[in-house]
Amino acid sequence: MPIQSAKGAYDILPNETYKWQYIESIIREICELYNYKEIRTPIFENTDLFVRGVGESTDIVSKEMYTFLDKSERSITLRPEGTAGVCRAYVEHKLYSELNYLTKVYYLGSMFRYEKMQKGRQRQFTQFGVEALGGEDPSIDAEVISLAVNLIKKLGLKEVKVAINTLGDKESRLKYREALINHFKPEIDTFCGDCQRRLELNPLRVLDCKVDHDKPSMAKAPKMVDYLNDYSKNFFEKVLKHLDYLGIEYVLDHNLVRGLDYYNHTVFEVMSKVEGFGAQTTLCGGGRYNGLVEELEGPNTPGIGFAFGLERLILSLEAENIAIPDQNFVDVYIVSMSEKTNEIAFKLQEELRQNYIKCDKDYFNRKVKAQFKSADRYNARFTVVVGEEELENQKMIIKDMIAQTQEVVEINNIVLELKKRLEVK
Ligand code: ATP
Ligand code: MG
Repeated sequence: MPIQSAKGAYDILPNETYKWQYIESIIREICELYNYKEIRTPIFENTDLFVRGVGESTDIVSKEMYTFLDKSERSITLRPEGTAGVCRAYVEHKLYSELNYLTKVYYLGSMFRYEKMQKGRQRQFTQFGVEALGGEDPSIDAEVISLAVNLIKKLGLKEVKVAINTLGDKESRLKYREALINHFKPEIDTFCGDCQRRLELNPLRVLDCKVDHDKPSMAKAPKMVDYLNDYSKNFFEKVLKHLDYLGIEYVLDHNLVRGLDYYNHTVFEVMSKVEGFGAQTTLCGGGRYNGLVEELEGPNTPGIGFAFGLERLILSLEAENIAIPDQNFVDVYIVSMSEKTNEIAFKLQEELRQNYIKCDKDYFNRKVKAQFKSADRYNARFTVVVGEEELENQKMIIKDMIAQTQEVVEINNIVLELKKRLEVK
């Protein structure tokens, strides 16, 4: 049996990459508009980073990490998410050194989690995320959410909703924590093993449980809003007001908590509402993480960010039947009539490329008919036919593949004639 890709990893084949490139180009365009700069952090990090930066009680750290010892017995982990690495780099390179400066970055790349495979859930997957570090104005929260919403809009997705909640600051959260423990404790035996473990460790996560999600006591659980101190309440109101300024629609979801330990204040998700999309409806999750940078031994730095899963974005585009523009074409396919004309066809190909004309040709000395078949397969706009007889007269034939017309042109003018037809500058 030939070797197959590792479980949970998959190939993106040449006939699919255009989808990725399309989404990536829109992402880069939007980040540029919002003045977020790309950051590229390593794919592997010291394991401690994630233990401290993501949190031991999370699913990610407790059961999903690809951790191994390298040849010097260092514990290394393939990054399961992007925020910890960004914050590490922020501290390591002192990106905070300027006062009153908001560091705005985005990343795009592979993440690794050892998870149960499902539609929209792989072990190697791709995230696009942004982080804004160094500011605590509620308008930043709204800006970050607006960036996520604009990506959705630009992609043309319609069946999407934004859910938002607040986890408050530390003080509010401690009070809420207690209330949740008291609420769930009497019947925790009827909950799944994960919830039983989470109750003391991180009771907010019980609200996030996919197994016990529909239990009546979930809906009756205490709500964070009732435990917010004035600062937290005020902060959240301002975030919502700023979203209103931008006309961004959202739903308040009191049970929305995020999987990572470090979130506080604003948390949000972008979800697909398309029927038949599958179980994994969350396209994007994000929130504020004031305190994370400090946890990584940097200065006290507020921060907020989000991450989209690109695989799920592609699935939702497909579910909403939104066509992704495919660039699968060549400007010119060169047809060589015989072995004698191969050399000149080969040289012509290079010349066209030097002139930014996208082209291809045959490599197998195939019959003319087969070469025209290839031209169709590549969606060639024109073919140039190089024949012995024409060569003697210093001419070539340009065939318009749409109009199905052809013209004989001087060899010396071939580039010019093609450019004219292709409107290349
Ligand atoms: P979920 O509840 O689906 O496990 P999560 O809370 O673990 O999501 P985050 O860590 O917030 O997800 O990651 C943000 C986004 O990254 C998710 O909304 C999803 O689109 C994507 N994502 C997360 N894990 C995977 C995965 N294993 N495969 C594909 N996409 C993923
Ligand atoms: Mg997860």
